[in-house]
Amino acid sequence: MSNRDYASKQLNKIQNRIVSAARAANRNVDSIRLVGAAKQQSAELVSAFHQAGLNDIGENYLNQGLEKQQVLGELQLNWHFIGAIQSNKTSDIALHFDWVHSVDRMKIAERLNRQSPSNKRLQVLLQIDIDDEATKAGVAVDQVPALSNEVAQLPALDLRGFMLLPRAREGFDQQRKPFARARKLLETCNQRYGLQMDSLSMGMSNDLEAAIAEGSTMVRIGTDLFGPRAK
Ligand SMILES: *Cc1c(COP(=O)(O)O)cnc(C)c1O
Repeated sequence: MSNRDYASKQLNKIQNRIVSAARAANRNVDSIRLVGAAKQQSAELVSAFHQAGLNDIGENYLNQGLEKQQVLGELQLNWHFIGAIQSNKTSDIALHFDWVHSVDRMKIAERLNRQSPSNKRLQVLLQIDIDDEATKAGVAVDQVPALSNEVAQLPALDLRGFMLLPRAREGFDQQRKPFARARKLLETCNQRYGLQMDSLSMGMSNDLEAAIAEGSTMVRIGTDLFGPRAK
């Protein structure tokens, strides 16, 4: 099968899952954005998916993202940074990405705020350690309200909401729990500080249905979209 046919078939499968999940939750499918998590995938494959209709690409590693952007530069794609952020990488992230899903401390937010070019507004999400795993990346749940309020004051950033990567759970009802918790946390922060966060980046290949049931507005799909990752 050509890359083009493969991309159409895979994209169709995921879009059908998103449509069914949205319908089951009584939600408008247009409120859910599909972000292709493209780590370890080639620029060529990403290009085939773009031709098939995928418009949003997520990258975990700056170098892989920049390499793809070199090849795919002229395509109309939205680039999402979804990986751990080292502070020496913030300037390239601010310059080359549209969304940053993985802001987890004020220092990173301040650097992105200072380094983001004046001709665009960086769209930012706080990555939340929703299971309180401590070893995991992300802001501890009890620190989320204060940090949201601080980041929301930074003039060059648009704080849009939260991203989470819950630990793996079996079954729809179990999978829903961390997503529900994030949705409530977002409402709490909005009310307490008068914020207008409207985005929840949650749901991957194995739990996108549960995430959509709890209000996800961005699902980040790797394996079930592009296929297995090269090692
Ligand atoms: C790899 C990755 C995904 C996609 O995971 P799949 O299970 O392959 O769909 C989503 N989000 C982040 C942050 C990732 O690193």
